[in-house]
Amino acid sequence: MLKVTIDLEAIRHNYHVLKSESGVEVMPVVKADAYSHGIERVAGTLFAEGARTFGVGTVDEGVLLRKSLPQATIYSLLGPLGLDDYKNLIIFGIKPVIHSWDQLTTLAECLTLKDQLRIGLKFDTGMSRLGFKPEACGRLVEFFRVNPALNPDMICSHLAFADNPDMGHQARQQLEVLNSVCEAFNQSGYKHKRSLANSAAILNFQQSLGDLARPGIALYGGNPFVNTAIAEKGRRLKQAMHVSAPVLSVHQLPKGQGISYGLTFTAPRDMRVAIIGCGYADNYARSLSNKSWMLFDGHRLPVLGRVCMQLTAVDVSSVPEISFGDQVFVLGGPGSGCIDVHELAGWWKTISYEVFCLLGKNEKKYINF
Ligand SMILES: *Cc1c(COP(=O)(O)O)cnc(C)c1O
Repeated sequence: MLKVTIDLEAIRHNYHVLKSESGVEVMPVVKADAYSHGIERVAGTLFAEGARTFGVGTVDEGVLLRKSLPQATIYSLLGPLGLDDYKNLIIFGIKPVIHSWDQLTTLAECLTLKDQLRIGLKFDTGMSRLGFKPEACGRLVEFFRVNPALNPDMICSHLAFADNPDMGHQARQQLEVLNSVCEAFNQSGYKHKRSLANSAAILNFQQSLGDLARPGIALYGGNPFVNTAIAEKGRRLKQAMHVSAPVLSVHQLPKGQGISYGLTFTAPRDMRVAIIGCGYADNYARSLSNKSWMLFDGHRLPVLGRVCMQLTAVDVSSVPEISFGDQVFVLGGPGSGCIDVHELAGWWKTISYEVFCLLGKNEKKYINF
């Protein structure tokens, strides 16, 4: 029963912060349904602000976005996975970011004589996740010579440590490797955009910016440097997601009485409790049992006992006026008690990315469009 509100003004604001911080072209990363903020609304809003290139995850996401943004350049960061994906790249004009020989050779086989496709190439410069090894450069250049229908127009890699202020040397090493790859392609006459920076690098690793910056989390208001010595680098970002749930019942909890499954919380004094319509079925994690807080009218309400499938109890002793039908915030909310995504992520023992991705899967509405 969680209700998600997305503040599109916050997303516009964050985009302009990142544009002015980077000074290069910004490709908003809207994979995973824009970190569950809703890909069509987020990308549409940013297109209106001047963004022309978008990074989606799967090709299917690209197909969806193509229908609402016929003019945009769309890169699929994962590239084609199933056979339909290879066809859809051509039909819908989506540029795949290719990370393996398997993808590259299948793609070449799927092209007909008249097809032309521009692609991105992803290199593994030290994260050991996806990407060609830098040593593959020579063979790749050869491949493009015999397959002129395919044209690499973007070369990218991903940083393993960009959000850790102490890992600058690792990030610099990755940048050097990427630069040498780009140099090899340049010398072979393949002009391309160079792209390395995610949100953290945009805000703290100027040299990595290249030609195309790829922010994700910062667009949605997550601070990559939360709980570090350089947290102030993300202070201008505004959280776009707010999530609320209804009060289903308010009643007394007498001193000594336990509450919810396992009676893991026992009232230390006479209390008033509210039963809130939210639980792990809404992606409000069970691990938040006895750990998290909700917000009502500026008051923080501690969660009491276990989070259930669709119900969670909170202490409302401090807010006598709360009653059936009121909404409490589990994330965000107005005023100084606003539950910051990093605060909730801390109680949840995870990161802002996962909180957005999970809670944002509930029913959404948009404000400030
Ligand atoms: C998700 C992703 C990004 C964005 O990363 P943030 O840390 O959210 O800014 C950038 N590039 C690639 C390839 C990604 O997969």
